[in-house]
Amino acid sequence: MAKQQNTGVQTLEKIVSLAKRRGFVFQSSEIYGGLNGCWDYGPLGVAMLRNLKEAWWREMTNRNDIEGLDASILMHPKVWEASGHIQNFSDPMVDCKSCKARFRLDHLFGDMNEKKLQTIAKHLTVDHREHTKESLSEYILAQIEANEALFTQLVELELVNCPNCGTKQSLTSPRNFNLMFETYIGPVKDAASAVYLRPETAQGIFVNVLNVMQATRQKLPFGIAQIGKAFRNEINTKNFLFRTREFEQMEMQYFVKEGTDETFYEQWRERRINWWSALGMPKEKLRLKPHEKLAHYAKAAVDIEFEFPFGFGEIEGIHNRTNFDLSRHEEYSGKSLSIHDEDTKEKKVPFVIETSAGASRGFMAFLCNAYREEEVNGEVRTVMNLHPFLAPVKAAILPLVNKDGMQEIAEKLDLDLRRSVKTFYDDSGAVGRRYRRQDEIGTPYCITIDSDTLQDQSVTIRERDSMAQIRLPIEKVKTYLLENIECPVG
Ligand code: ATP
Repeated sequence: MAKQQNTGVQTLEKIVSLAKRRGFVFQSSEIYGGLNGCWDYGPLGVAMLRNLKEAWWREMTNRNDIEGLDASILMHPKVWEASGHIQNFSDPMVDCKSCKARFRLDHLFGDMNEKKLQTIAKHLTVDHREHTKESLSEYILAQIEANEALFTQLVELELVNCPNCGTKQSLTSPRNFNLMFETYIGPVKDAASAVYLRPETAQGIFVNVLNVMQATRQKLPFGIAQIGKAFRNEINTKNFLFRTREFEQMEMQYFVKEGTDETFYEQWRERRINWWSALGMPKEKLRLKPHEKLAHYAKAAVDIEFEFPFGFGEIEGIHNRTNFDLSRHEEYSGKSLSIHDEDTKEKKVPFVIETSAGASRGFMAFLCNAYREEEVNGEVRTVMNLHPFLAPVKAAILPLVNKDGMQEIAEKLDLDLRRSVKTFYDDSGAVGRRYRRQDEIGTPYCITIDSDTLQDQSVTIRERDSMAQIRLPIEKVKTYLLENIECPVG
């Protein structure tokens, strides 16, 4: 089986097109031309996304020291003052006065070609030969951060023009743009009624820490896990589900005593990378990238990155957030969030190790990881080799022909299997074509009922990746399936 070679862009285009054609993901409000940065999960997509979230939920909550939570999306506005989001959750932006396009300052330089960056570096009297393209753009950004007038100078000197319309001297000076979506609670639309759609799920966990402890009698160390929607008014949405304005997160905050935080940070880093790989991501497509510039609250932070068709990108962040969040909520709410330490008899604010994964971005990573094109007998076979637990359909039931009682046996088997797993019944077309339709959506098993079944009550089970076929008595099919589609984690 030879693999077909595609460029990253081609591969992503093929995945997006398959996702639409087979009902994994549609553009939001497509009949109105779509809404930028928003996507809808179709019949197969929603099934696969639920499987992914279920694998995470089991991993997190099938243990005695982690509790589940589902907090509301709208929260008291003071939460976002305490968390620092009102002040800090923003990106510096510039506008083009001519075409009205808006750009993130870092993307403006990040997307610039090397020659232009070198010209700017020369203006800043930096020896560009010592720098890579990335380090040049980072250096320029740091200079602008230190001296905002510098950007205006670069624009006046026509060293930075609008990348959209090319107009010279048209970019405004950088302004901070908050990424939180604001809305209003109640009938009056004024500052006092402003609330935000949460930009992360974590704060719902922090504000409930005492409630959960009291309800469950947990003691440190313990964690709270939550899956839910988050919203960010991202300036540039791109690469399909990678950066969207509405997405789902799977976050777990693990509360520990100060002094034990570094050990737990390392443990969670290992556990989390093992989780992604247990669900089918090869180790060589995953990497850990420590943050060079730490957020003001973090003591240590690392991203788990996956190799998407366009290169490595973050799928999860692991952070040692110290006692920053809980201390701030203490300060802003006036309620003590300190926890009594039975050993030292002191009350102290716990430290937090956070694992923050994207369900939507993770979903996309698994689609990209699974997509294959193989040549089989001179034909291209498209196959999604999803882990069976993630696959939206677990088994296809295929009566070879609709006669001689094959249909009745197939329907009976289908009804029986459906109580435990998602199946798909398909009796139309040549069996080879039916296999291909299932390969394309990642169905791990195809079960064929043929003329031999009528004699010996056995069926053929074809495995998706190897295409190997085995013969099994009908009564053993369910156990076989359940064993092979089991969740590998939790
Ligand atoms: P990025 O640097 O890519 O914007 P981030 O560092 O802001 O991400 P976190 O705040 O750590 O991301 O969020 C945790 C996880 O949530 C990310 O690893 C990612 O999987 C997911 N995530 C964050 N922003 C988005 C988005 N706009 N669209 C889809 N998923 C997102």
